[in-house]
Amino acid sequence: MDGRRVAYLQAMGLDVWLERGAPVPAWPEATPSTAGGVMALDWAGLEARVRGCRDCELHRTRTQTVFGVGNRRARWMIVGEAPGAEEDRQGEPFVGRAGRLLDAMLRAIGLTREEVYIANILKCRPPDNRDPRPAEVGHCQDYLRRQVDLISPAVILAVGRVAAQNLLETDTTIGRLRGAVHRLPGTDLPVVVTYHPAYLLRAPAEKGRAWADLKLACRTAQDNAG
Ligand code: SF4
Repeated sequence: MDGRRVAYLQAMGLDVWLERGAPVPAWPEATPSTAGGVMALDWAGLEARVRGCRDCELHRTRTQTVFGVGNRRARWMIVGEAPGAEEDRQGEPFVGRAGRLLDAMLRAIGLTREEVYIANILKCRPPDNRDPRPAEVGHCQDYLRRQVDLISPAVILAVGRVAAQNLLETDTTIGRLRGAVHRLPGTDLPVVVTYHPAYLLRAPAEKGRAWADLKLACRTAQDNAG
């Protein structure tokens, strides 16, 4: 292990790391709400569609949409909840303190932010950072589905309760969802669940569990190396 990784792990209060994984399957078929052709869009078309989207009320209060960032051929896809205030200002997911902790978590497993793809369930900020409403998720979900389809990652890391429950279409608690490899509904794509870095900042004692989740995601990606 090189010195930088040791430093990152120490910053997280952890002492081990694993190698990253490999490629895999894709989203099988379009959902009913793809009548607008979202599932046929390329990256440029999808970006433009999201940028101009007014499909739910959140367009009224956003500063800008937050599409997603990173490597469009990534083996790891990180999916969070929705933009917060800083993300809404900067137009990028996972910035600020939580974003820096996410970066440290990724570096601990040998990945940079540029090597993964990071997106949210919702592309616009809910006012006062309230939870996304089902109707908003319903309107927005095909954008994320198309991103997943275009990337075809080896593993999806669902970060936080809202991301996990919406991705996996369940109301099971995050405590019960952690520690297992799930499948994105309707696909073979593996999903591993972990805590949101904003939560880990409030509850640093849980970093050990988050590290176990990252190791599980690493093994899962490796299992999908083909
Ligand atoms: S949250 Fe999604 S569906 Fe709602 S306006 Fe933004 S991009 Fe459109």
